[in-house]
Amino acid sequence: MRVGWFADAAGGGDPAGTSKGGGYMEITEVRIKLVENQAERLLAFCSITIDGAFVVRDLKIIVGPSGPFVAMPSRKLAAHCHSCGFKNPLRAGYCNQCGKKQAEQPPPRDDDGRIRLYADIAHPINASCRELIQNRIVREYEAELVRARQPGYISRYDAIGDEERR
Ligand SMILES: [Zn+2]
Repeated sequence: MRVGWFADAAGGGDPAGTSKGGGYMEITEVRIKLVENQAERLLAFCSITIDGAFVVRDLKIIVGPSGPFVAMPSRKLAAHCHSCGFKNPLRAGYCNQCGKKQAEQPPPRDDDGRIRLYADIAHPINASCRELIQNRIVREYEAELVRARQPGYISRYDAIGDEERR
C-alpha cells in the first residue's frame, strides 16, 4: 500500500510555497535492533528502506512523553580548533589534539532558542511525512518486541562497528 504525504501548514515544509500538493513514498522495509541494556532512553536502532530503493540507517527509537518516539539520524556538531584545525565537540574547553584552550563561541540554537548539539542528517520536511515514518517504525518496533521473545530470534538490522555504544 502506498501512503501519501502532503506539504501542510503545520509542518512548515514548504514555506516558500514553491511546490504544490505532496508526494508518495512507501517505506518498504524496516529493520530493528533492540537495545538490550536500556540504561538510557534508547529503545532501539532501526533502518528504513524507501520505495525499495533507498536505505536510511541509524534512526533511533527513544522513550517519548507519549510512547516510543523516532529520532532521525544525526551527527554531533563540531567546532574546529583555531590552532590546529582539529574537529572538537562543540563547546569543548580544550582541543583534543593540541590541547590549546578553545575560544568561547556562542552555541548554535534552534528555532525555539534551545542549544543545538546535534544536526539531523536525513529528516522529513513536514509533519505528515514525519508521522508516516514514525507510525510505520513504531508498529514495526512493537512487532519486533514480540518476535524477540521467540527462540532463535535474530535482529535483521545490519549493525556496523560499535555504533551502539555512542
Ligand atoms: Zn588544536
